[in-house]
Amino acid sequence: MTIEQKTRIAEFLDLASAYLCSGYKSQTMTHQFTDDESAVPVVAEQAAPQAPLLESQPKAIAQPDEPHVTAGNAISISNNVVAGNGESSSNDEAGIGTLEAIAADIATCAACPLHATRTNAVPGEGVSAPLVLVIGEGPGENEDKSGRPFVGEAGQLLDKMLASIDLSREKNCFIANVVKCRPPHNRDPFPEEIAACAPFLTRQIALLKPRVILCAGRVATQAMVKTTNSIKNLHGHFIECAKIPLFPMYHPSALLHDSSLKRPTWDDLKTLRIRLEKLAAFKI
Ligand code: SF4
Repeated sequence: MTIEQKTRIAEFLDLASAYLCSGYKSQTMTHQFTDDESAVPVVAEQAAPQAPLLESQPKAIAQPDEPHVTAGNAISISNNVVAGNGESSSNDEAGIGTLEAIAADIATCAACPLHATRTNAVPGEGVSAPLVLVIGEGPGENEDKSGRPFVGEAGQLLDKMLASIDLSREKNCFIANVVKCRPPHNRDPFPEEIAACAPFLTRQIALLKPRVILCAGRVATQAMVKTTNSIKNLHGHFIECAKIPLFPMYHPSALLHDSSLKRPTWDDLKTLRIRLEKLAAFKI
């Protein structure tokens, strides 16, 4: 990591630290989230019908006190599965299996051309019943080498961002990607690659049953939500994804290249934290 990159991360953390020191943390971060809190109800908003990349039931939401969102969701989530570690027979009957089984299927998958250039597939990692499922677009070079999601420079920043609102992959998050194999030269995954890989993410979501989905960046958000709207317009607004609140934010790598995105991203993290507080406070 270069000095400039370290400086940018430090600046982001300084911004977060300043906000926390101004009272936010002491006023609101009094609840320790547990994995036995159920999903949040959502309020219907308008949907913008477009061809989905992933199967779904279109519906967009916003909380009454949150900005308006113009988008539908585009993800297929089975509701007849049991949340937890994926060892229930109903998961097997639904063809979802366990996290380990999904990872094994991914490791041998050749459903799209990305399998030919991967070093390692990257199924994802985290807790088995996460409060938040973080979804990125796909593995980069470091992830391809290690087989783990978000471990490069952007991943380190993501971990810091999550930690600033009491989230981590070790404690209450699962981190995955829309495509499980690295696109060459870190290009955006093609729509047909996203479509080919979608069943894996669908199985993971059905198994993990996250309370909130946090989408990192334009590609992941547009893959999950049937919209061509920009991340500039979508970030910071909750969207329903088969009754799971989906929250788009800028990709951490974007923050490393554009420092002006730090403040809106920190504002988004605060919005997310407030929603998580509501989930905990009202046991919904
Ligand atoms: Fe299979 Fe997904 Fe890898 Fe394509 S990106 S080869 S669909 S696991």
